[in-house]
Amino acid sequence: MATRIMNRRNFMKSGLAGVGGLLLVTSRPKETKATQQKIISRTLGNTGMRVPIVSMGMVSVGNQGLVRAALDAGIVYIDTAHTYHRGQSEELVGEVVKGRSRESYVVSTKVGFGRAAASMITGLYTAEATEEAFLKNVDVSLKRLGMDYVDILYHHNPWRRESALYEPALKAMEKVKKSGKARFLGVSYHRNEVEVTQAAIDSKLYDVIMIPCNFKQKNYVEVRQAIAKAANAGLGIVAMKVMGGIPAQDPLKPFNASAALKWVLQDSNVHTSVPGFGTFEEMKIDLAVMEDITLTDSEKDYLKTASITPGLYCQGCGQCVKQCIAQLPIPDLMRAFMYTYGYQRPAMAKELVVSLGLPSRLCEDCGTCPVKCSIGFDVPRKIQDVARLRDVPAEFIV
Ligand code: SF4
Ligand code: SF4
Repeated sequence: MATRIMNRRNFMKSGLAGVGGLLLVTSRPKETKATQQKIISRTLGNTGMRVPIVSMGMVSVGNQGLVRAALDAGIVYIDTAHTYHRGQSEELVGEVVKGRSRESYVVSTKVGFGRAAASMITGLYTAEATEEAFLKNVDVSLKRLGMDYVDILYHHNPWRRESALYEPALKAMEKVKKSGKARFLGVSYHRNEVEVTQAAIDSKLYDVIMIPCNFKQKNYVEVRQAIAKAANAGLGIVAMKVMGGIPAQDPLKPFNASAALKWVLQDSNVHTSVPGFGTFEEMKIDLAVMEDITLTDSEKDYLKTASITPGLYCQGCGQCVKQCIAQLPIPDLMRAFMYTYGYQRPAMAKELVVSLGLPSRLCEDCGTCPVKCSIGFDVPRKIQDVARLRDVPAEFIV
């Protein structure tokens, strides 16, 4: 704890405090380094909002002090979601920003129709996904945040073109923007990056995309091309999943978060990132990247080695889903496995696993499993391992 307090004090003393004022001048160069504060900022596409290249994703955060410290250290943009921590994340953000000038920070939340409203297998919405349901969720989120509006409202996790362009969602989002409850609209997705990015461009509605981007993606060239296309079309680009699912605690190959984050930010089409820090120690590493994205020789060496090391990052290719006899949502389960053993966030993994509404018996009745993962994961072993979280009481998980 002493270390954490020291870290926080260091941030406060670092001279970065108070940098959070938003500059809405679109004519500035695409990238600037403030002279007094060394934070690198980029413009989030045609929204015109300038934000530091490192932002705060709330998926791992349950601590008001961490959010306060992040804002005081120069973070401007905080991203949460309707579903994070069963709504408590939005409440937490609302509490922290109380009393701060509304112009000094950017807040986004992500809203969908609920898991039951989309097929786990096809990703297509069902009849439960109505405009009314979406609008109701937006109002619940704003109430939890204690805000009249969010800066960006994301359509949460449609991973098919048809879903990203699903008319009830688009109609609802248009209404939200028109009523002033969101300044800008976005779409965030965990897989099928190229297809959904093209849909976002074609929609002429979305202003921002939140897209997975990391050095472990097999299709990173295509992802980079899609990002460039979206940036050229004026969309703001927020990178997520930037760490690429490398186990955090392997003593033989210690994870280098700084290298992973810098790799993503080398691309100036990526305007900001949500690296998902959940502790003061992790934040310290990411804040240093906010000031300097130069890859050191040792970081380059690390990336070379780690890029060919088997990791925990599911590519979301969907090959396994078609092969699975029980049609389980395998990519989501692999994500939960990565949260547990890569990010060391079992609570987050449990929340995801429980939300999937899985059958009680998993992978026990198939005999030989026909699933061949494209990157060699032992899928049934990982499923059975992570599914045990369902039975662990929440109070035993940190
Ligand atoms: S063993 Fe598990 S992953 Fe394999 S087919 Fe059966 S349910 Fe699907
Ligand atoms: S085949 Fe493997 S990499 Fe592809 S979605 Fe399934 S688990 Fe992920």
